[in-house]
Amino acid sequence: MKILIVGGGPVGLAAALALKQEGVSDDITVLEAAPHGQTVFSDRNIALSASSWRFLARLGVAVAADARAPIRRVEVTQRGAFGLLTLDAGDIGAAELGAASPYPAVKAALDAAVRAAALPVSYGARVASVAHEGAHAVVALTGGERLRADLVVLADGAGSDFLPDFKRFERDSGQMAVLARVSASAPVAGLAIERFTPAGTLALVPRADGQWTLIWARSKVDGERLLALDGASLAQEINAAAGRALGTLTVQSKASSYPLVWRIVEPRASGAVVAIGNAAQGLHPAAAQGLNLGLADARDLARELAGSAGAGITSDRGARLARYARSRGVDRVLRMGFSGLLAYGFDRGGWLLDAPRGLGLMALQLAPPLKRELLRRLALT
Ligand SMILES: Cc1cc2nc3c(=O)[nH]c(=O)nc-3n(C[C@H](O)[C@H](O)[C@H](O)COP(=O)(O)OP(=O)(O)OC[C@H]3O[C@@H](n4cnc5c(N)ncnc54)[C@H](O)[C@@H]3O)c2cc1C
Repeated sequence: MKILIVGGGPVGLAAALALKQEGVSDDITVLEAAPHGQTVFSDRNIALSASSWRFLARLGVAVAADARAPIRRVEVTQRGAFGLLTLDAGDIGAAELGAASPYPAVKAALDAAVRAAALPVSYGARVASVAHEGAHAVVALTGGERLRADLVVLADGAGSDFLPDFKRFERDSGQMAVLARVSASAPVAGLAIERFTPAGTLALVPRADGQWTLIWARSKVDGERLLALDGASLAQEINAAAGRALGTLTVQSKASSYPLVWRIVEPRASGAVVAIGNAAQGLHPAAAQGLNLGLADARDLARELAGSAGAGITSDRGARLARYARSRGVDRVLRMGFSGLLAYGFDRGGWLLDAPRGLGLMALQLAPPLKRELLRRLALT
């Protein structure tokens, strides 16, 4: 079975490794638009669940230990109101809930694993179109080359828009994520913060260098204002909103921003083509679920197709892809719902909403089985 993966980002590379490992095919090629060796610039500090880390380890993806910051506890609070929820690895008998690593470190580890597995990646191969031709899919590159495949996996990220069968439902959140690296006067190893402020959700994710990455969802106007501030003025705003769990925070980098757009692609499988990762959905980063969801997409696709090796175009390919799409539905809805709750459910101010929200957080805190279930779902599945 010939498989083409469009996009050599983290999800496309993980899918290539997983499909090979599950024995789905020996003929897998990744088509990546970027040229070979292009350095990845991103200040994203990606928090991955314990389950995602286990999956990466199974694929032979080894992120350098000094680029990995374990997350053992997450404190969820709201500014100016009561309600505290502490999610602790100990609640589920785990050593850590997950760990965060800089995006370039995760990407470099995936690149190395793909090289070690001798999986071909065509760099500088920008896909111009994908179309069905009988039972096959045909991929056309911008250079004019046409490639036929039994299966095309779209892992080309947020801009993916090749098949008219795949409908994109998109909503601009009206917000941007403001990112900055901060140091803390009272650092607590392994602590991540999720704080609901009337202006937008604020998260502090630990970094391997002993600092934290701030991700603050703000309205576009407000975000632009924050980006224009000098470090000291930005730190003042952050400290006024972030609470005191880590003491006083000092800004250590220039702030940057990312647009916050929700996107869902439906259906995500049609004929010989299936979409995974950011090509299938886009999430608010408040809940750090995007790559977790994309890696689970890759894992489950490979599992669903395991056993179809050597069959070429099999009559059950459509059924397998449809089953795969259905099986990913629950995880997608849950994680998008959770991200949405964190992003919007909590960013409206006023005592009328603060009180029930606080009670909601306390209820979770006081109901260990509920809390364990939430943790189990987010960290371990
Ligand atoms: C600020 C921020 C913080 C985040 N934090 C977290 C977090 O803590 N935890 C988490 O799980 N997720 C997080 N995410 C989400 C995470 O970064 C994404 O979900 C993940 O990077 C998506 O990976 P992907 O491989 O699907 O897409 P991408 O990373 O976008 O990769 C797509 C690849 O396809 C290639 N490509 C595009 N078009 C073509 C074409 N036509 N032909 C060939 N190749 C093409 C691109 O060059 C690229 O290499 C965060 C996102 C943001 C913005």
